[in-house]
Amino acid sequence: MKFNLKDRFTSQLPADPILENSRRQVSNACFSYVTPKKTANPEIIHVSDDMLRTLGLTKKDSATKEFLNVFTGNSVMPNTKPYAMCYGGHQFGNWAGQLGDGRAINLAEVEHNNKIWALQLKGAGETPYSRSADGLAVLRSSVREYLCSEAMYHLGVPTTRALSLALTGDNVLRDMLYNGNAAYEKGAVVTRVAPSFLRFGSFQLLAAKEDISTLTTLVNYTIKNHYSHLGNPSKETYIAFFKEVAERTLEMIVHWQRVGFVHGVMNTDNMSILGLTIDYGPYGWLDDYNPDWTPNTTDAENRRYRYNNQPNVGLWNLFQLANALFPLVNEAAPLETILDDYKLGYDKASLKMMRSKIGLFTEFDTDYKLIEQLEENLQRIETDMTIFYRNLSTFNKNAPKEALNSIKEAFYNTNTLTDDVKTHWNNWFTSYASRLKLEKTTDDERKVKMNLTNPKYVLRNYMAQLAIDAADNGNYAVLDELYQLLKNPYKEQPEHQKWFAKRPDWAKHKVGCSMLSCSS
Ligand code: AMP
Ligand code: MG
Repeated sequence: MKFNLKDRFTSQLPADPILENSRRQVSNACFSYVTPKKTANPEIIHVSDDMLRTLGLTKKDSATKEFLNVFTGNSVMPNTKPYAMCYGGHQFGNWAGQLGDGRAINLAEVEHNNKIWALQLKGAGETPYSRSADGLAVLRSSVREYLCSEAMYHLGVPTTRALSLALTGDNVLRDMLYNGNAAYEKGAVVTRVAPSFLRFGSFQLLAAKEDISTLTTLVNYTIKNHYSHLGNPSKETYIAFFKEVAERTLEMIVHWQRVGFVHGVMNTDNMSILGLTIDYGPYGWLDDYNPDWTPNTTDAENRRYRYNNQPNVGLWNLFQLANALFPLVNEAAPLETILDDYKLGYDKASLKMMRSKIGLFTEFDTDYKLIEQLEENLQRIETDMTIFYRNLSTFNKNAPKEALNSIKEAFYNTNTLTDDVKTHWNNWFTSYASRLKLEKTTDDERKVKMNLTNPKYVLRNYMAQLAIDAADNGNYAVLDELYQLLKNPYKEQPEHQKWFAKRPDWAKHKVGCSMLSCSS
């Protein structure tokens, strides 16, 4: 295993001078050096072959003792100095002060094919930022992060990636439902990969501490290494930087809405400065189309992070980032303009995305209404989002009356298909057919295009749970099956048709499938 090592982050940014691994407040620094924890009996249980290739590694590399030791934290690569990043954040709307990598440890940056990647272990032990927790992660949440980040990548959603999933051989105590029933679970480590793991909160913490000098260093670093096309540091460049972060965040959230992904914990410490989906915790996928849904039981009361609030939260989070960058710009108006543009930009981008979901490739002003009516219908009867859009691609514009039959498969309970609901659907299909007649594309062409927008296979909550249950018993076949399946989410895969199915009844209220806490 040979990497072309880089050290941009640690060589260009200020380090915490204290080397002792004790929990504390860290000042005037962007990270602390820390050594991963040795584990009892490490075992790699899955490797992303796609990520392996992207990093210039081979299957043979991934089978070595060195790979096992490095990606479980048991040995540190020569000429590298692992570190935990310092950041703060707003959690559920409240400023939480210093948070930081409490259980993530960056190993190094590596270059391959002119791209530089940071390699990071999640669950590799305590850091100065571990606060009252243990620095570890359990198999359950690690399977979820591993599978979902790779699945999101293949869906075309901006995301951090995953290289490997390993068991540590240690047991980890978790109170999964926060109800006083703590139990031991298998410990695990995921190797995450991204161009950078910097978050909105990395900037916010320095601004909150009024450490403008380190804040400026960090912003200049981020622009130089990740937004170099914006040019040298200046007030204008800082504004352009914020503008692009806003655009990337918007784009990421439009993708989430397109595929039915609910992040679950959009705290500002979980917002990537590169506009990547980051920190897969109690996330979930819409089975039935319910815009108010959130999988996160910790947020059950306010539903701050529900599906249809994600765009608003994106804006709220950007507002916090604007506040953090303000000391470098010293003028509110340009930042406010960018926030205003987000609102308009989101509506525009969302409409475009919805048009493509229903196969419209020209624009008419009335499309807005057609989409609104569709969203109303989707809530009149419990309708599976993924199956609905996928089956809509078979719609025959000359036979709208037949459509209900091909869509029926998406309804969870056809007993609730009342005459009133049927009328609403038939009316919609009639309007849809008229609208499609204004398009130049044939039904066949439209089908091809729609099927590149609407995935056939997503990581439904119950599917991840089946992989976890099997993995807990030492069986990794489901994990691998889902990993392979989700590499081609838009492709018909007849051999995997069983995964193109509504959430089974047993999963509707099962812990892990519809209810997830932050415990991980
Ligand atoms: P999250 O919202 O799950 O991304 O985590 C919020 C903060 O808690 C971050 O600073 C994490 O590093 C930290 N954290 C979460 N779980 C643990 C853990 N088991 N040990 C140490 N820190 C943790
Ligand atoms: Mg986090």
